[in-house]
Amino acid sequence: MRHIIFRAICLVLLTLAPAAQVWCDNTFTLVLDAGHGGKDPGALGKRGKEKNINLAVALAVGKLVEQNLKDVKVVYTRKTDVFVELDERAAIANRAKADLFVSIHTNALPGKAQGRGSETYTLGMHRAADNLAVAKRENSAIMLEKDYENRYEGFDPKSAESYIIFEFMQDTYMEQSVKLATFIQKQFRSAGRPDKGVHQAGFLVLRATSMPSCLIELGYITTASEEEYLLSQRGVDQLAKSIYEAIKNYKANKK
Ligand SMILES: [Zn+2]
Repeated sequence: MRHIIFRAICLVLLTLAPAAQVWCDNTFTLVLDAGHGGKDPGALGKRGKEKNINLAVALAVGKLVEQNLKDVKVVYTRKTDVFVELDERAAIANRAKADLFVSIHTNALPGKAQGRGSETYTLGMHRAADNLAVAKRENSAIMLEKDYENRYEGFDPKSAESYIIFEFMQDTYMEQSVKLATFIQKQFRSAGRPDKGVHQAGFLVLRATSMPSCLIELGYITTASEEEYLLSQRGVDQLAKSIYEAIKNYKANKK
């Protein structure tokens, strides 16, 4: 009923003053960013590639949103196996005037190290070396981009010194981003995933977005049991459902 009244008021307002369009446009735009793609496979497991897992989960989240949240417009940074630059991913979200940006990735550990569980990052300065390692790995995608030295103003994704820029950064959307990240981790926990928590680190893809945003590490592709889960339909469905529920809760909480 409230919706109908809102529509009616908008109709009157738009007739009187077309400028009311901004106020009346209550569509919520969600950008789903499947990390890596094309010539950039992301992290590698024994059988799987990160880019494919990220895409499968992003598409599954989008499908749930499109089916169940009719007032949400979903924008994908990629829907197929193509390479998209990090700054272009953020630009897609900015151009769409998105309300939320969710970047989906899969974690990896070097050597024989084992890891289990899901974690969510917001933009910020890393406090632990582990968080810096994740940001370094994800930001290294720019090295496959043409002219990345100029595009990212000399940022070296592998050098710790480069990350100092994140220390002096003001993030207007920090509070909302952390809220979303917390909702996501809560859903992962309910689904039985080991909770690796909410963290902060310097991700280039989040830095250039001008809306609440977070980056999810679904699980560890380099750990056998995790890889099996990430490559299974059950895993994809469960992870996508968790992210979908978190977005739904975030949106409901925002009103
Ligand atoms: Zn990644």
